[in-house]
Amino acid sequence: MNIILMGLPGAGKGTQASEIVKKYPIPHISTGDMFRKAIREETELGKKAKSFMDRGELVPDEVTVGIVKERLSEDDAKKGFLLDGFPRTIDQAEALNDIMSDLDREIEAVINIEVPEEELMNRLTGRRICEKCGTTYHLVFNPPKVEGVCDLDGGKLYQREDDNPETVSNRLKVNIKQSKPILEYYDQKGVLKNIDGAKDIDDVTSDVIQILDDLK
Ligand code: ADP
Ligand code: ADP
Repeated sequence: MNIILMGLPGAGKGTQASEIVKKYPIPHISTGDMFRKAIREETELGKKAKSFMDRGELVPDEVTVGIVKERLSEDDAKKGFLLDGFPRTIDQAEALNDIMSDLDREIEAVINIEVPEEELMNRLTGRRICEKCGTTYHLVFNPPKVEGVCDLDGGKLYQREDDNPETVSNRLKVNIKQSKPILEYYDQKGVLKNIDGAKDIDDVTSDVIQILDDLK
């Protein structure tokens, strides 16, 4: 099952991905998470990515394509994957096509989670993430049982540096412009599935699972 999750920042990709991987034995591969981990660990990759991420800009394609190619060749991705945050440019989409051809596989569905823009600012500025396990919460829409603490492992919740109103508004602008041609690209290939992401988290999950079950 080779799936791409699309949607503007805050649409619920990470939230839905964590539900999907509970049901299907495929890894959630998020380029943003990979970059954030590299920055935390102060690796070469992290150094390259940081200045772009701090400005809410895209990390250059040659860097991003390289890490995705490596990640998709790992053993746990052989049965499939859930790609989140990639591709973000047509060049990345073409590069992914080549990677898939080399592996003799193809993208089966591109699930696009649609949410009105005005809602995204509320979602992103209220987002909190567990520093241990990465589980995502929201101060209002999906709060933890105890403020500031992860329900699953007691980890401390943090706010992403780029989830401040100023960077969010730049990220939304960049993403809206960049995602349009990609959605068209996959629509032409006949694999695009749009879903309504403004519903409650559980209802969106049911819709996503319906699409995945239909692929089997
Ligand atoms: P993305 O990975 O697409 O940027 P996230 O999954 O991190 O988005 O979700 C962004 C924020 O919105 C999080 O705080 C999350 O808890 C919240 N959220 C996700 N889906 C919904 C939903 N359907 N309704 C309300 N809030 C949601
Ligand atoms: P969001 O979609 O909420 O902005 P992500 O976690 O997907 O957040 O990405 C965070 C940042 O990581 C992006 O703003 C960008 O700088 C970088 N990034 C992630 N994925 C890509 C990609 N496919 N190409 C280039 N840069 C990326």
